Amino acid sequence: MTQTATATDLAPLHPDAVRILPLGGLGEIGLNLMAIEARGEIVLIDCGLMFPEAYMFGIDLVVPDISALAGRTGDIRAILLTHGHEDHIGAIPFLLKELGNPPIYGTALTLGLLRTKLEEHSLTGKARLETVLPRQSIELGPFEVEFFRVAHSIVDGCGLALRTPAGLIVHTGDFKLDPTPVDGQTTDLGRLAAYGEEGVLLLMADSTNVERLGQTLSERTVGEALNNIVPRSSGMIFVATFSSNIHRIQQICDAAHAAGRSVLVSGRSMVGNIAIARQLGYLRVPDELFIDLRRMRELPREQVLVLTTGSQGEPLSSLTRIAMADHKQLELLPGDTVILSAKFIPGNERAITDLINHLCRRGAEVHYETTSEIHVSGHASQDELKTVHSLVKPHYFVPVHGEYRHLAHHARLARSMGMPSERVLVIENGQPLVLSPNGHRLEARVDTGRVFVDGKGVGDIGEMELRDRRHLANHGLVLVFMALNQSTGEIVTGPEIVTRGFVLEMDGQPLLDEALELVRDTLADHSREAVAGWEELRVEVRKTLHRFFNRTMDRRPLIIPFIMEL
Ligand SMILES: [Zn+2]
Ligand SMILES: [Zn+2]
Repeated sequence: MTQTATATDLAPLHPDAVRILPLGGLGEIGLNLMAIEARGEIVLIDCGLMFPEAYMFGIDLVVPDISALAGRTGDIRAILLTHGHEDHIGAIPFLLKELGNPPIYGTALTLGLLRTKLEEHSLTGKARLETVLPRQSIELGPFEVEFFRVAHSIVDGCGLALRTPAGLIVHTGDFKLDPTPVDGQTTDLGRLAAYGEEGVLLLMADSTNVERLGQTLSERTVGEALNNIVPRSSGMIFVATFSSNIHRIQQICDAAHAAGRSVLVSGRSMVGNIAIARQLGYLRVPDELFIDLRRMRELPREQVLVLTTGSQGEPLSSLTRIAMADHKQLELLPGDTVILSAKFIPGNERAITDLINHLCRRGAEVHYETTSEIHVSGHASQDELKTVHSLVKPHYFVPVHGEYRHLAHHARLARSMGMPSERVLVIENGQPLVLSPNGHRLEARVDTGRVFVDGKGVGDIGEMELRDRRHLANHGLVLVFMALNQSTGEIVTGPEIVTRGFVLEMDGQPLLDEALELVRDTLADHSREAVAGWEELRVEVRKTLHRFFNRTMDRRPLIIPFIMEL
């Protein structure tokens, strides 16, 4: 597929039209970023990252490619944040400058979590953060934006209602209809019903759990499970969960408190997020529940619960180091209990099962998703999605937040509820959709994609470099060194072959000799007249060795010839 256009190439909009341009999150889980444009002005919904997949060797993070917005950053009025998960706020520190540093609107906890990220990138003073409350309306040029409360696996989550010149757009954000959330803050069905009465042009709704029948369990069920497990557990208890799941942390602390255990918090993000949540009043825990390492050592193991990160088996996390007996302060002993209160995120299964194996080997009793009810999802299942569709009664529906199969499934759900197919639109990243009083149209696709972050480099590693890394990882490296006389082209030193991840030196001595002989032959064929073309010679050496290793060993290493002139 050739994609060449950017948003500047798109036709100017009719004053009563609105353009939806997804730049991430439609066709993948992660990288959520959507641009909404009317009367020449743009608001962005979320700006998230994605963790690298196994084939992305050495990549730390992935952020959305925003080159489609090049030349339009002056028109961006605001970034609207639905909630504080990484896949919604994580790309901001990397892209804020490129986006022209527009004001960022979100609820207190969302901005609190973002502030920590901005501090890590020394951007705190520069970013303009605007705190909003649910049901609060903000005027942003041609848009009137209202945040409405949704329940999710992080506190202070919101959906968005955008009044635009073309009509009302409702975006659910990530949500579930938990009737008994830990903080009592249910999804604002009243507002959703009111929007439905007012008339909704477009609904965009979370598709993550559309394949699940029925209803997602309430977060409170996890509290009940913890209250069962914690009092009858032996030894020290280690509980791992996501540091952003404040309700889960609340319930873990409550269970510890009820069972007479003190809580030691381990892991940088866990310590940081608990401090933010307590400061903003989202986590209610008595001061004396928390203990430090010194106090922990004075207490019997049966009176301690360690709250930690590392539920995904991340190699550097606190829990993995504890499991490998590689933690400076914390030790796991036979008879201790470990609870992994989190989902096995696809792609992490191997790391998590390795972690569980290590924990079991040390004699711990391990509880995890498939053995106990110690995790529930934060996303709505089919019955909840149907409730939202029937309340909002949109004219158009665009499924969001999912891989293509989730989007397709969600479209089917909408059609099954009586929506005509021509108004259920499955679009992917880079596909602009224009809605106006005359109907809708899909415009030519614009550039989208992924930008890789490796260390301090953002975007310098591309698909080509990743291909080299994969090649190196799969086939190893062969370096050929030689020095040639500048005028005669005769060999002064070498050739010499050095390999990495590709054994030749020991058992392969006859093959190595043969390879060197081939290089010498290639050089001889190239004698004087070709001396000017070192590059040609390099290519020739590479080709010769490539054919040789392919024929003799059925291997295709990365071959790099170095030729020095003397
Ligand atoms: Zn999300
Ligand atoms: Zn989320």
